[in-house]
Amino acid sequence: MAIPAQAPSGDGGGVGPTVERAGVDGRFGYVVQLARDAFVELDGDSTVTCWNPQATRLFGWSGSEALGRRVVDFLVPPRFASVFLEQLQATAAAPGLIGAGRGRRLQLVHRDGHELEVSGSAYALGQGPTLRVGAFLRDLAEERAAEEALAHAYLHDSLTGLPNRTLFTYRLAYALADGQGAAGHVAVAVLDLDRFKAINDALGHEVGDELLVAVAGRLIDADGVAEVIARLGGDEFLILFAGDDAEGQAVAYAARALQALAAPFAVGASEVFITASIGVACTSAGVTEATSLLSNADAAMYQAKQRGGGTTEVFGEAMRVKLLDRMTTEHSLHRALERCELRLFYQPVVDIAGEQPIAVEALLRWDHPEQGLVGPNRFIPVAEESGLIIPIGAWVLQEACQQLKSWQARAAAPSGSVEVNLSARQIDHPDIVGTVEQILADSGLGPSYLTLEITESALMSDAAAALEVLRALKDLGVTLAIDDFGTGYSSLSYLQRFPLDILKIDKTFVDELGIDPDGSEIVSAVIKLAHTLGLQVIAEGVETEAQLTELRHLGCDFAQGYLFSRPVPASELVAAHRPAAAGPRASGPR
Ligand code: C2E
Ligand code: MG
Ligand code: MG
Repeated sequence: MAIPAQAPSGDGGGVGPTVERAGVDGRFGYVVQLARDAFVELDGDSTVTCWNPQATRLFGWSGSEALGRRVVDFLVPPRFASVFLEQLQATAAAPGLIGAGRGRRLQLVHRDGHELEVSGSAYALGQGPTLRVGAFLRDLAEERAAEEALAHAYLHDSLTGLPNRTLFTYRLAYALADGQGAAGHVAVAVLDLDRFKAINDALGHEVGDELLVAVAGRLIDADGVAEVIARLGGDEFLILFAGDDAEGQAVAYAARALQALAAPFAVGASEVFITASIGVACTSAGVTEATSLLSNADAAMYQAKQRGGGTTEVFGEAMRVKLLDRMTTEHSLHRALERCELRLFYQPVVDIAGEQPIAVEALLRWDHPEQGLVGPNRFIPVAEESGLIIPIGAWVLQEACQQLKSWQARAAAPSGSVEVNLSARQIDHPDIVGTVEQILADSGLGPSYLTLEITESALMSDAAAALEVLRALKDLGVTLAIDDFGTGYSSLSYLQRFPLDILKIDKTFVDELGIDPDGSEIVSAVIKLAHTLGLQVIAEGVETEAQLTELRHLGCDFAQGYLFSRPVPASELVAAHRPAAAGPRASGPR
């Protein structure tokens, strides 16, 4: 109980007279009416002279019930009544603003009998019969609840109610400080759902959200000992473990979480199966900081994804070495472009009947200052992950188009078209069509002389998006090929809808020719399928005469492989060139 006896010095001056002049029916009346707080004004006898609707809401008494009654008879708990009246009189001695701010607390009684603690600000004006003490009051419990809700919203994910990144970061910092960097004392698990984007796109965001909530529920159910299970946003969750065997607990939890996710989810009108990739990392000699712990767990999760998902990887020494190697490669790859260390090699594609070259495939090499010539399989994955494939891919296109144009201008070998590989990242890039168009225009190469190769897996990973890009590329007049066919999982319906011209059978199937009778059957079936769809067929990686004979027998159109030539630099290709009559390969019938 604390109606103050003294006005705080210096902040009452200007307010009192303004209120006094306004009068309850004028502007002051509106202010009181509109205030978010309860407003109660008393005379020197504690009789209510003003009572606003919020006061009714707070105390349960209507205005007509309260006005004219002494608050010591109904609002102030009887045990405080006499002290209250004493303090009320004392305020008359110090008029002005009293108790501004939330510091002043008062115990009052609700109409239903329960006591509530209120806080607020008050003023005192006049003396004797004209004394008026008014107070704006608010329920402290309500205010505390609002503050708690705000703090909760700041630290939790609104969709699942799980702790968010901010709270996770606090808890991780605390656990690390607590463990004082001891090896194995803190472990984090990063869990990322596999193919969540596809589900979200196919079933809609609402179903996606429903699924995330259900996943969060199962992750909590699978828990026993985690410090925090947090959602980072999207489909990524973070789980923190601390204690003597944090890593063991994290690994055991990961196994339980994968199992918990295995049962189907009933969301929307569908039943959905989902798996997750989990990466686990824990503190060790060199890893005592939150950032390195999290990036190690991320790397492990990424590794789990690369293994096809639905599994857990623990960050260890081998992964550290690999990561370091990756970072070094990425670092020097950045400079490879600037330092002109990239080269294109060319491998002819021959017409299977006459064995004349009808095209060349441009294949990237990195002339590394220390390691010599490096093949694309060693650095293209890094270029793709880091996004460097965009400028590198543009360079490849430009170089290949210019090279063919210059051969054409000198009537030097090889005639025909040039095939350039595009990676999935390039297909996803919003500028891909504009880039190809620009490079064709800059080089002056006719679009029918350019074939773009896209692997089956790149095409099928987001077939709907790829379809649009392929149609736009096709409109430029270029030829389109599906590369490494047979290594991915093609949707036949998309295969039919993609505006493709050429299908390249992967080397692994060509390898089987003449060895395994089933191998011939498969190649034969693929060739028939391609021809039915109006596609011409190139067999990749032809190394032996026997394979060539079999391919001819099976009706394959073109071949490429060491039997004819390895990929060679442009200068060597010219030297090896046998003049041929072939022109640009006609685009497929569609
Ligand atoms: P790909 O497009 O399927 O290229 C064919 C690969 O098979 C080339 O490997 C080629 O050298 C190899 N090859 C051809 N004939 C034979 C043969 O008879 N025997 C054997 N053992 N191998 C043969 P390379 O040059 O190492 O390229 C590997 C992959 O790297 C390519 O596969 C392609 O997916 C990718 N790649 C190469 N250059 C580029 C590029 O500029 N951009 C992108 N995105 N990817 C590229
Ligand atoms: Mg290729
Ligand atoms: Mg291939």
